[in-house]
Amino acid sequence: MAENPAGRFAEVQARIAEAAESAGRDPADITTIVVTKFHPASLVRELAGAGVEHVGENRHQEAQAKHAELVDVPLTWHFVGQLQSNKAKAVAQYCSVIHSLDRPSLTKALAQSERALDVFLEINLTDVPGRGGVEPAELASLAEGVLNTPNLSLRGVMAVAPVGEDPGVAFDRVLNYRDDVLRLAPGATDLSLGMSGDFVEAISRGATHLRIGSAITGKRPDPTYP
Ligand SMILES: *Cc1c(COP(=O)(O)O)cnc(C)c1O
Repeated sequence: MAENPAGRFAEVQARIAEAAESAGRDPADITTIVVTKFHPASLVRELAGAGVEHVGENRHQEAQAKHAELVDVPLTWHFVGQLQSNKAKAVAQYCSVIHSLDRPSLTKALAQSERALDVFLEINLTDVPGRGGVEPAELASLAEGVLNTPNLSLRGVMAVAPVGEDPGVAFDRVLNYRDDVLRLAPGATDLSLGMSGDFVEAISRGATHLRIGSAITGKRPDPTYP
């Protein structure tokens, strides 16, 4: 494994291309979002210099501060973490894609921002409610609400494979659940699936957006906040 983030980004891109080829897919149809949570703005700048175009964050305060340091860098910012409704409008100021829309109150809060946003509906694949993600049974009504919100563009669904479940099996469940979305929105075909440990399985299931952190950034520094 390369010793710096730029080298690891290149290695991961090569592994993505290989996995895409094995799956009979065009690597150009796959967007790699580098999840830079806990890492400083300097690392994000270094990654942008190495060709990274998409970054992901999961905490508003941290992301907002980093974005402010990097306004001169051409990057698309993605929000991938649990999002409180009272932070939604602020997040929409610097993120153009929200991967974690999981409840109607958040749809309403994002509507308030009036900025055009691409959104993914996050599906909870665990048995634990409140983990983040909508229950599969509520996916269709959540999609309907988004489709009725003019500033939100529904791209598809997002999920995190639960610890302890074979990621391929978990991603197959996502493909089943999202039929409920495709019935209402046939164009919402994007799939935000796959992290450092399971992006190969995600690519074979059709992932269009990979959210990769540690395989590129290296080990995350310990969080210094509660
Ligand atoms: C942290 C995080 C990732 C990246 O995880 P790695 O295992 O470091 O690749 C992806 N998605 C979400 C929602 C995350 O919070």
